[in-house]
Amino acid sequence: VIKMYYEALSLEEERFGTVLVHRDITKEFEVDQMKSEFVSTVSHELRTPLASILGFTELLLNRELKPEKKTKYLTTIYNEAKRLTALINDFLDVQRMESGRQTYEKKFIKLVPIIEKVIENQQFQTDLHQIELHPSIDHDLIMGDRSKVEQVFTNLLSNAIKYSPNGGKIDVRVYRDGSILKVDVTDHGLGIPEEALDQLFTKFFRVDNTDRRTIGGTGLGLAIVQEIVKAHDGEVHVQSKYGEGSTFSLSFPSVKIAQPISGPSTLLR
Ligand code: ADP
Repeated sequence: VIKMYYEALSLEEERFGTVLVHRDITKEFEVDQMKSEFVSTVSHELRTPLASILGFTELLLNRELKPEKKTKYLTTIYNEAKRLTALINDFLDVQRMESGRQTYEKKFIKLVPIIEKVIENQQFQTDLHQIELHPSIDHDLIMGDRSKVEQVFTNLLSNAIKYSPNGGKIDVRVYRDGSILKVDVTDHGLGIPEEALDQLFTKFFRVDNTDRRTIGGTGLGLAIVQEIVKAHDGEVHVQSKYGEGSTFSLSFPSVKIAQPISGPSTLLR
């Protein structure tokens, strides 16, 4: 983006020339665009759950309802409030990451039990999908921040669910490749158009195809995944076939701990 303006060159009232100045304002343009994208995403994404919370609260306050109906409405309110909290946390995370203020509390952690826990939570959210874990390792450790690593798998699995609207199997494979621990999350959902693949991890980027226009989101989930994985000296890659499904592959450097000759290591919890 080029901004052009003329500047008259004059010396003591006497004009002796004109200069045409070209200034590249791509950066400012991008920042402006990002800001307006942010505002429209935030307002839309906050408004939807808030509207539903307000609507159901009004119903509960103004109508005599059967206990089952009450429970149903309260569950919706609870889920929508949770969604709002997750959204706000995403925005705060991205802001902290940008300003370099994100902190990581790293310890030795076992990867497989963390993934198991996230799968259990995600499976609880859906009857349409079957999430299956295929671990070929067990006690392998990484040096990581437990809650941040959980967030990586939560984001990937919730995307796998969200972008497989007809349901289906989601496979999570955990294996070792030399000194690297790898995790592949594979779904058989909508897939990603080839031209979108290299922008996928960019903040606020969303695929705008008709097959997913009604699916909500901020475009922050994968940017957060990439940031966290990088902070763990890892990598994230995606392979996808539009209309068939996607695989997100993560790799983390594993940590080897010298085992004591007898008795369990205190580090292996
Ligand atoms: P959001 O889901 O909030 O839009 P993400 O950063 O998590 O943001 O994902 C960016 C885009 O990548 C999404 O808009 C979606 O179109 C696409 N995407 C992410 N994960 C998948 C997936 N498993 N299958 C198909 N498309 C996906």
